[in-house]
Amino acid sequence: MSPERAEIRALDPGTVDKIAAGEVVERPASVVKELVENALDAGASEITVEVDAGGTERIRVADDGIGMGEESVRKAVEQHTTSKLRDVSELDRGISTLGFRGEALYTIGAVSRLTITTKPRGGESGTKLTLAGGEVEGCDPAGCPEGTAVEVTDLFYNTPARKKYLKREPTEFDHVNTVVTRYALANPGVRFVLEHDGREVFSTTGQGDLQSTVLSIYGREVARAMVPIEGLAEGPLEDISGYVSDPETTRSGSTYISTYVNGRYVRSKAIRSAVVDAYGTQLAPDRYPFAVLDLAVPPGTVDVNVHPRKTEVRFGEEGAIRDQIEETVEEALLENGLIRSSAPRG
Ligand code: ADP
Ligand code: MG
Repeated sequence: MSPERAEIRALDPGTVDKIAAGEVVERPASVVKELVENALDAGASEITVEVDAGGTERIRVADDGIGMGEESVRKAVEQHTTSKLRDVSELDRGISTLGFRGEALYTIGAVSRLTITTKPRGGESGTKLTLAGGEVEGCDPAGCPEGTAVEVTDLFYNTPARKKYLKREPTEFDHVNTVVTRYALANPGVRFVLEHDGREVFSTTGQGDLQSTVLSIYGREVARAMVPIEGLAEGPLEDISGYVSDPETTRSGSTYISTYVNGRYVRSKAIRSAVVDAYGTQLAPDRYPFAVLDLAVPPGTVDVNVHPRKTEVRFGEEGAIRDQIEETVEEALLENGLIRSSAPRG
């Protein structure tokens, strides 16, 4: 069939929005990521994530952060509205917030039914704003605690083509769990609660120590198998902190190697393979340990202001950083008697 030559015309704004939304919001876990980042940016000390049916039916993220007044919440759901960035010079200086593009709430709103209930800290009254497919349906005073709760139901109800690409509910929930775990491990000072279909999956204490956070998320058996990184081998990194498991406590995928740069989650093949190599031959083939590692990276060595969805990073001096991680982890494993020392590598 030869393509028929159609007239070139501009898409209507509604269609453009729905297409653009697909770039940010791929699945329930991407909604959870954006809402959790907003809660952290709002200075929350407690974040509750509830999802139903893997997030396909309902996602709710509630925080006790700074909240919003009526005017702010109306603005927050418009396109490119943010309280976090004023001009491009701030981008060059580096930004401390997780969000800054001002598009998450707008794009999530375009492909779901969205309800925001919020009250500013120390404010007198709360506001409840409802949107469906990007249209404001109501904005009324509401009694609610200080902080913000964002509820997203019927994700992709108006974009059936996207809805078709969602996986089975357990798979979608796995992605949600991975995202919440990632932020909970990076923020031991924030209490996280994750519930699926009304049942608690995990809750952390928010008391600030990584070890008890690992225990809350991965359970007693894994937490007991993990040892802290204490020393630091020579190399470009200023510090490496975190926990790694013994070589018997493993899984078949590298999902449980969580890596951070200056507290921000990153993916890096180099870091993952450095961790695995530290175990030498004492790790069974195709098995991966548990690890939570935060790298203190001097400014300029890595660009962390990359595109918000591209978490895979590359380092300058990658070889040196890789060796430093491998040696540091190996040293921690040796010191704790978790691996036997092998012949020096050539
Ligand atoms: P961004 O995070 O890039 O600024 P968003 O669309 O995610 O863009 O949010 C828009 C604005 O809404 C934020 O800049 C912030 O002012 C406000 N906001 C969103 N979520 C929250 C929240 N949980 N608590 C307080 N303010 C929020
Ligand atoms: Mg945001």
